[in-house]
Amino acid sequence: MKPCHAVKMLPPEGLISNDVLEGLMKEKRSPREPEAVWKEKDMAGGRPVDAMVVILRTNGCCWAKTGGCSMCGYRQASLGGVTEEDLNKQLDSALSAYKDEPFVKIYTSGSFLDECEIPLSIRERAFREFEGCERILFESRPEFVTEDVVKTLPRNATVALGLESSDPAVLERSINKGFTPDDVRRAGNLVKKEGLSVRTYLILKPPFLSESEAIADAVSSALFADAFSDEISVNPLNVQRGTLTERLWKNGELRSPWIWSLFDVMERLSGNVSARLMSYPSGGGSQRGVHNCGACDASALEAMEKFSSSGNLADLRVTCKCKNAWTRYMEAERLLGTAADIDRGLNNELMIQRRSDG
Ligand code: SF4
Ligand SMILES: [Zn+2]
Repeated sequence: MKPCHAVKMLPPEGLISNDVLEGLMKEKRSPREPEAVWKEKDMAGGRPVDAMVVILRTNGCCWAKTGGCSMCGYRQASLGGVTEEDLNKQLDSALSAYKDEPFVKIYTSGSFLDECEIPLSIRERAFREFEGCERILFESRPEFVTEDVVKTLPRNATVALGLESSDPAVLERSINKGFTPDDVRRAGNLVKKEGLSVRTYLILKPPFLSESEAIADAVSSALFADAFSDEISVNPLNVQRGTLTERLWKNGELRSPWIWSLFDVMERLSGNVSARLMSYPSGGGSQRGVHNCGACDASALEAMEKFSSSGNLADLRVTCKCKNAWTRYMEAERLLGTAADIDRGLNNELMIQRRSDG
């Protein structure tokens, strides 16, 4: 699922350990308040509409409790001991912010359809409260998308499925997803059979994939997902705290993808899939998120946002001299046969050389 967190003001990294910090954050977070509620634009019925986004504080993703996915920081976002009553209060709070937006997205730190995380009464209440809106979107791991459950979903439901990659080896070794692409296809087909919508999430550049391998993986995954998806959301890797990905990133063993790679994925797919293509990268423009040279990041991300509404490749016309650096970077990766952060590796080498020269 798309890891997504409200922005928080935190002390600079290194001043306080992650464990202590996590403890402090949890102390301050009430189980009766949602993690975040905000408004944004999204699409419904083929046009841009206002959307309300709610992130519920839950006991967390069942899979995260057994280790979880390599890039997911949701373990930090969930609490322990959240009760049905707490979740009802969280819904009350979300409803007080609701201004008849046609689109409502309810995220948890796991699966909305997992009854251990969201009791059935809460699920049913959410469906009742938002039955008048055009679209209600929630995320689920495929094992909770059963024939019986799908029959109970409302007509305005969109089920978001975190496929990430259609390559079983990538799912197993790079992501540790705990399900196969076929599991997601089965879930997607069930939802479609019931006449409901599917939004599929893909990851661009999970650990151990080079930039060009990541592009190829996202493209083939989208072609796979197209058969059961109304929308395909490509989520470039964003390095989250306390994850395996963060450890690799700190060691210089991976670089978050270039924005040019995201453009490349969209250019290769446009016209070749029926699903709407979209990407709203979290952490974009930072070293942890999808980024280019720094000078063109804001305009490139803005272009991607436009493309996500329009589907028009003309919106991706951005130029910057770092596009050559991106091409050279991929060439160097191929020559060296590595998925590590080459720029950082080179800088470290130079520093070591300078030190030994000095
Ligand atoms: S399935 Fe994976 S990505 Fe989704 S919430 Fe659980 S651990 Fe995170
Ligand atoms: Zn640039």
